Amino acid sequence: SFQSIGFIGLGNMGTRMANNLIKAGYNMVVHDINRNTMKNYSDLGVATKETPFEVAEASDVVITMLPSPSHVLDVYNGSHGLLHGGCHIRPWLLIDSSTIDPQTSRELSAVVSSRILKEKRGSWESPVMLDAPVSGGVLAADARTLTFMVGGLEEAYHAAKALFLSMGKGSVYCGGSGNGSAAKICNNLALAVSMLGVSEALALGQSLGISAKTLTKVFNSSSARCWSSESYNPVPGVMEEVPSARDYDGGFATKLMFKDLNLAKASAGEVGLQHPLTSQAQEIYKKLCEDGYENKDFSCVFRHFYSGDDE
Ligand code: NAD
Repeated sequence: SFQSIGFIGLGNMGTRMANNLIKAGYNMVVHDINRNTMKNYSDLGVATKETPFEVAEASDVVITMLPSPSHVLDVYNGSHGLLHGGCHIRPWLLIDSSTIDPQTSRELSAVVSSRILKEKRGSWESPVMLDAPVSGGVLAADARTLTFMVGGLEEAYHAAKALFLSMGKGSVYCGGSGNGSAAKICNNLALAVSMLGVSEALALGQSLGISAKTLTKVFNSSSARCWSSESYNPVPGVMEEVPSARDYDGGFATKLMFKDLNLAKASAGEVGLQHPLTSQAQEIYKKLCEDGYENKDFSCVFRHFYSGDDE
């Protein structure tokens, strides 16, 4: 039932997700502000558009995978944005998979549902927006093993499930609009802190004379076991095929983790919740960005913060 899928934001994650939709046989229309990216797609014979509005005009469903809230607002509300062109729009479903704050997701979803569909879809007269950020990095995006955490109308979630399964291994319905975004920033807050905890502990262990490999073995069969120790170990030489094994290239950029901690901090502030660890973690990732590691994987905190190596 998805005639045409629009995809906007073809970066590290978006390219891989869009490629899996193409492989699954969907008819795709894509847009990115990066001209080289657009050229790669048109060379492959995929339809490219100059603006988000042109994507909306050509699509039944639009998926966005952009860096931060300001980019998402721009793509939706900008002068040639998805919602440009009056109250009638073609897409009946707008899925935002970017990691943004729940407040922005909720505001945008309200604006989207105030619009009217050019063509009614069953009993639906208005389009629906889902916030559907993902867990799993570029490897998972490649291997189609992402997990989607989804907020918005439950009926729309069920309608979108086939799409999520073309890009990932599963999805979790989190409740009303904004709850997917809330789930994602909470997940990344816990991840940021666990990565710091594992890095700090492994640095201490090494200073006390235990190798990171041995200490990791202990963690992974003890109560310190977590994703940061077991699947994404930050110490070079402990694991293969993780960013720490290749000078922290690729993976999840430190600047994106810093962005996510900002989102968590702002949300915690808004609801009046104490957040000492969020603030501390945010300071550490901020320092890494200032020191020039903003594009390295966030697990570089082990080398460039704890091991005091500024090379
Ligand atoms: P990225 O920076 O690699 O890609 C973003 C893309 O959006 C780029 O191609 C950029 O040119 C494009 N873009 C920016 N502004 C645009 C605009 N106004 N119009 C059209 N295109 C525009 O980022 P990424 O790593 O793919 O991450 C995307 C989102 O997914 C972020 O919110 C990130 O936090 C989240 N995320 C990333 C990972 C990861 O491991 N990289 C994992 C889970 C979630």
